[in-house]
Amino acid sequence: MYDIAIIGSGVSGLGAALYSGRFELKTVVIGDKPGGTIILTNDIANYPGFNNITGFELSEKLKKHVKDYNVDFKDGKVTKVEKQKNGFVLTAGKEVIKTKSVIFATGTEWRKLNVPGEKEFSGRGVHYCALCDGAFYKEKVVAVVGGSDSAAKEALLLTEYAKKVYIIYRGDKIRPEPINEQRVEDSKKIEVINNTNIIEIKGDKTVKSVTFDKAYKGSKEFNVDGIFVDIGHIPLSGLAKDLGVKLNDKGEIIIDRECNTIMKGVFAAGDVCNTRFKQAITGVAEGVTAAYSAYHYLKEI
Ligand SMILES: Cc1cc2nc3c(=O)[nH]c(=O)nc-3n(C[C@H](O)[C@H](O)[C@H](O)COP(=O)(O)OP(=O)(O)OC[C@H]3O[C@@H](n4cnc5c(N)ncnc54)[C@H](O)[C@@H]3O)c2cc1C
Repeated sequence: MYDIAIIGSGVSGLGAALYSGRFELKTVVIGDKPGGTIILTNDIANYPGFNNITGFELSEKLKKHVKDYNVDFKDGKVTKVEKQKNGFVLTAGKEVIKTKSVIFATGTEWRKLNVPGEKEFSGRGVHYCALCDGAFYKEKVVAVVGGSDSAAKEALLLTEYAKKVYIIYRGDKIRPEPINEQRVEDSKKIEVINNTNIIEIKGDKTVKSVTFDKAYKGSKEFNVDGIFVDIGHIPLSGLAKDLGVKLNDKGEIIIDRECNTIMKGVFAAGDVCNTRFKQAITGVAEGVTAAYSAYHYLKEI
């Protein structure tokens, strides 16, 4: 019987594991994509203590730090979490894991455009991660869909390969952090097309063009070799919901300032939660707080 089972081995799960290990609680981390979302960016300049670090390096450093303590790691996807009399039972493949408390640090998945052609050309011109797939577009024309800071960062990364990078945004004005907004403005390769939606993606073996909902420079048809979709994320909160944990209308797990959910013995941290600001440092801090709250919960039961 574990004291704490942490679902998700992204930065929030690792933050929780570090403190849980330090509290000498019997801890297991179960994750299906080690490192989580942060490993998809190679340009982190806002994690305190590191002027510049790649996401992969950051997650490796966190993991190495956790391994200074007695924490078990298991690779796999948790498919069921059940409440039982003395705690919880998690199912991950053939593994059945018993635990007194659970921390959900399950993060998010990419929001899809949901237009014709997106599924068909996925991996053949439609992508969700510039770091993973940007290098295929050397001297090509690509488009990033989205207006957030992470969309701007994806576009900036793509300028290292592509000859031209469009940012297609449905709103009036993209809204990156000021420093990235300036970098986008300064880039000779990036052009922003505002107030525009992609309604179809077309091609043969790979993507050749997209159709806009309104004309750009006289035409709704627009030629591109690749599309990188960055229009937000959907919280991976299904397991928590099935367990009876309360979610908000966006499907995020509702937590208080101490990372308690409404269910005793169940805590949550990071991008899966109803916090407004979702960053590596805030996720790590919530993971740490969740472990601290679990520690106090375990002392009381
Ligand atoms: C392009 C991009 C650039 C970014 N740049 C920055 C930046 O510069 N600075 C910054 O601070 N933040 C940045 N972020 C945000 C940052 O990556 C996230 O806030 C952070 O990684 C969230 O961590 P998390 O652990 O909460 O979730 P995640 O990293 O998503 O980790 C959750 C993990 O749980 C796993 N999981 C889910 N369900 C299950 C299950 N049932 N069983 C087992 N495992 C499961 C997932 O596979 C995943 O590995 C960026 C994000 C993106 C997309």
